[in-house]
Amino acid sequence: LWITLEGGDGSGKTTQSNLLADWLVETGRTVVRTREPGGSDVGQLIRDIVLHHRGDIAPRAEALLYAADRAHHVATVVRPALARGEVVLQDRYLDSSVAYQGAGRVLDGAEIRDLSLWAAEGALPDLTVLLDLDPEAARVRLDSADKPFDRLEAEKTEFHARVRDAYLGLAAAEPGRFLVLDAAGSPESIADRIRERVSALLD
Ligand code: C5P
Ligand code: MG
Repeated sequence: LWITLEGGDGSGKTTQSNLLADWLVETGRTVVRTREPGGSDVGQLIRDIVLHHRGDIAPRAEALLYAADRAHHVATVVRPALARGEVVLQDRYLDSSVAYQGAGRVLDGAEIRDLSLWAAEGALPDLTVLLDLDPEAARVRLDSADKPFDRLEAEKTEFHARVRDAYLGLAAAEPGRFLVLDAAGSPESIADRIRERVSALLD
């Protein structure tokens, strides 16, 4: 079982990932927690570039860096774990690229999706949880967190509004894969909804 978490910065992906992982382990599953960018050794190096490079990165170069991260991650971490029968719980996947590199950087979303699918040899998760949150509300959450400089979180609200719209469009196009939840709700109520859906997939 392969589950990805998606949503804007500050939407609560980490909190939900922690709650879901704890629950899955309690039910006796082996859980591999991973993320993009940076879920592999090569990916760590790429993550450092895409998040911490001080200065612009050409949008197509950024898209290719994320695709390279994804290719190595799926091949060396995700597929092997799924082959061992483990649950892969992953923070961000190709929907992030369609939303951020596609809508955020104003590249062609369909091309970004094709690039990602090529990189990942077509791999798609069983479930994608989209934590939907208004970018202004997300900004308030992020500003109260004490974290190092992040190139993307420094983007303007309009960028994050495009990202949000793209995510909602993706979810509407693939209702079977997506579970869309209002991230303004309480962490526990959101976690309940996620567990409900995951339980059905585990049966
Ligand atoms: O989810 P996480 O906080 O690790 O993501 C790091 C940053 O990378 C975020 O600010 C996110 O906006 C950005 N990102 C991106 N394109 C992706 C994935 C993440 O711009 N495909
Ligand atoms: Mg973040």
